Amino acid sequence: MKTETCWPWSAGIHRSGYGIFSVHSKQVYAHRYSFELHNGPIPQGLVLDHVCHGWDRSCISGIRCLHRRCVNPQHLEAVPFAENVYRGNTLAAENAAKTHCPVGHPYDVANTYITPEGWRVCRECSRKKDAKRRKAVTS
Ligand SMILES: [Zn+2]
Ligand SMILES: [Zn+2]
Ligand SMILES: [Zn+2]
Repeated sequence: MKTETCWPWSAGIHRSGYGIFSVHSKQVYAHRYSFELHNGPIPQGLVLDHVCHGWDRSCISGIRCLHRRCVNPQHLEAVPFAENVYRGNTLAAENAAKTHCPVGHPYDVANTYITPEGWRVCRECSRKKDAKRRKAVTS
């Protein structure tokens, strides 16, 4: 039986808008937990997409999207990262289309860090920023 009703998580909410709870003092995303409980581990390289978000054309999206806290496993689908971004925030989609960071470092597997919000961060650039900060402290 497929139910279209969302199951909004009412306990902890992460600042990105997703439901969270802690297991052994580690934060776990509630929707990921719910999905894995019903479907097994999320395959490598895939992220969860809230299908119900796509049903609701009036959704404001972003961190205030209420679908993010939905833990109904029937509303969750494991999709490749880029697809999830395309369905969601257009700014992030634009970001995903870029193959290099503003300075020209490649956004490849080794050099890219993905934030919980789905943004890509250039590792090379953040390393340089860190080094600068350390230098500023020691000199
Ligand atoms: Zn839902
Ligand atoms: Zn939504
Ligand atoms: Zn860079």
